Amino acid sequence: MTTISPLIAGNWKMNGLSQSLDELTELAQLLTTGEAPRAVVVVCPPATLVAAVATQGASSGILAGGQDCHVNASGAHTGDISAYMLADAGAQFAIVGHSERRADHGETDDQVRAKAEAAIGAGLKPIICVGETEAQRDAGQAESIVAAQLVSSIPDAAGLHEVIVAYEPVWAIGTGRTPSNDDIAQMHASIRARLVDRFGADKGNTIRILYGGSLKPVNAREILAIDNVNGGLVGGASLLAKDFYTIISAV
Ligand code: PEP
Repeated sequence: MTTISPLIAGNWKMNGLSQSLDELTELAQLLTTGEAPRAVVVVCPPATLVAAVATQGASSGILAGGQDCHVNASGAHTGDISAYMLADAGAQFAIVGHSERRADHGETDDQVRAKAEAAIGAGLKPIICVGETEAQRDAGQAESIVAAQLVSSIPDAAGLHEVIVAYEPVWAIGTGRTPSNDDIAQMHASIRARLVDRFGADKGNTIRILYGGSLKPVNAREILAIDNVNGGLVGGASLLAKDFYTIISAV
């Protein structure tokens, strides 16, 4: 079985002013003075702070990511940001298809796939989010919904480039609720099987599958130990350096 180095990514969402970089300073201190992290550490701040996170994080190994990107490299798209701009600001990752963007901006799987392609084109590693709603889980459709999202949101280019999948049940995001460990294990195994099926064993077994949705210091150790959970995408708990560090240390 291939070993995958775990990755923990913090998604600051629409939170963070320049003073929030104090948390990054504290995180850097914790990472450099404590035990060496066993995970790749990524912070995805709002676009206004990407360059600062990339610069400030460099000495402690913290990598920067964007939270979204436009499908085009440039053009008349007021308010949007392109993958090339994120890369230019020092980002190495871009979250695409987060359920908040799917809900707030009506993003479809096709758009998510195009964004992932744009990210790859700009040299970024897309973190492609998938996940079912509570109603879909209650209806027994969680796996089929996620399977369909995987087919349509992951570009074929993932066969040749590095992409990351984040399984984030919509109902677990920001709610303090999580699926049972068995449910997480089952979903991650199902995602792994589909990645292997589509991209072959050599590639499919190397794609990281992150868990996201109310990952907290209190539950990180057990969730991150589940088979095929290759790290986490962390929202609320990534805003405080101590909490985020505890999650990183749980790997
Ligand atoms: C997220 O928004 O990606 C997320 C996982 O949020 P939270 O950890 O706050 O549930």
